[in-house]
Amino acid sequence: MEFVFVCPHRLVSFSSADFIIIESRRVACDAAGRRYSDARVKSTSPGPFCGEAHDYAAQELACPFAGSDT
Ligand SMILES: [Zn+2]
Repeated sequence: MEFVFVCPHRLVSFSSADFIIIESRRVACDAAGRRYSDARVKSTSPGPFCGEAHDYAAQELACPFAGSDT
């Protein structure tokens, strides 16, 4: 399975299956009162554009694990 990441340096998206999910036991609330996990997703291989690994808040990604809110 691949996630789609956006390189924050080049602002281009790429998909990668090389990532780990850093679980968080905290559940945060957004401004609309929706709860979300503040887990992070960290790429474990260098990005194809800038050569750096990045990490992201899980809710910033098109997360395949996210619960449906529709
Ligand atoms: Zn990058």
